[in-house]
Amino acid sequence: YADMAMHQSKSAGRSNYRFFSRELNASIQQSVVLEHALRRAIADHRLSVYYQPKIDLRHGTVYGVEALARWYDPELGVVSPVRFIPVAEDCGLIGELGNWVLDEACRQLAQWRADGLDVPSVAVNVSARQLVQKDLPETIAQILQCYALEPSSLILEITESSMIQDDAQPLKAIHELGVKLAVDDFGTGYSSLSYLKRFPVHELKLDQSFVHHLASNKDDRELASAVINIGRALHLTVVAEGVENQDQLSFLHAQHCDVVQGYYYSPPLSAHDFHNWMLARR
Ligand code: C2E
Ligand code: MG
Ligand code: MG
Ligand code: MG
Repeated sequence: YADMAMHQSKSAGRSNYRFFSRELNASIQQSVVLEHALRRAIADHRLSVYYQPKIDLRHGTVYGVEALARWYDPELGVVSPVRFIPVAEDCGLIGELGNWVLDEACRQLAQWRADGLDVPSVAVNVSARQLVQKDLPETIAQILQCYALEPSSLILEITESSMIQDDAQPLKAIHELGVKLAVDDFGTGYSSLSYLKRFPVHELKLDQSFVHHLASNKDDRELASAVINIGRALHLTVVAEGVENQDQLSFLHAQHCDVVQGYYYSPPLSAHDFHNWMLARR
């Protein structure tokens, strides 16, 4: 405040600069606070993973789950991954965080199976920054071996922007392990469709922004069916994200979308709640 008061006594011509720098300071301070808290949360194992069911529309069965990182901080409250994942990426924590999510998701999949639940796959989100880690394929191989999982039960969700990063090697190495790759938020990135030919992709996830207004927006309906047709032409599984109501579901079903995910079936659940959700479906 002493600093601010000092600035205020200066010429009016500098007021814009002052305003900007104060805003910037606040946002830097905020991410420093987040960074410290996140570092502590990772070290103290206070992050958790929630799981959202993905439903196979043709068979009405559970196709798998998507693992989603969760953080409750005693002082900051619930912090959304939309906020803390970018912080983790910027301050070099994403490797550790990402490896932990991979390990936890695989451990949990093996545990559910040991409990007699039929969960065919777990999908884990992987940042572009994680993909450039040279040892990622090796880490994944070790995790799969540790929990005795066949590689095809793990799906990595990557975004279009990760795929236009020049180095395709880690993705190729991961594919060679037998792990599946999904393109997340499909349709929102810088889509050069040619990467679908160059990369060994198994799944397209139609972004929820196209799904939300299916009932009211004809363009979104056209785009959704175009994506479903691209998927079919390339023999990829198409997953629609953010399905919240029966109208969206009916449209996607009529278009032969393969898999749906969204609040209509279930929000992301704790491992325990997902277990009970599976039992209740029987
Ligand atoms: P995403 O991978 O596209 O995940 C889907 C997001 O949509 C999740 O948000 C999920 O809770 C939300 N969602 C699911 N169904 C519905 C629905 O019917 N309606 C609406 N409105 N939303 C729905 P969440 O969990 O907040 O995660 C946001 C993003 O954070 C994820 O988007 C992903 O990009 C990133 N993220 C989350 N966990 C991780 C992680 O472990 N690693 C990395 N690298 N990124 C993660
Ligand atoms: Mg995802
Ligand atoms: Mg998505
Ligand atoms: Mg998203």
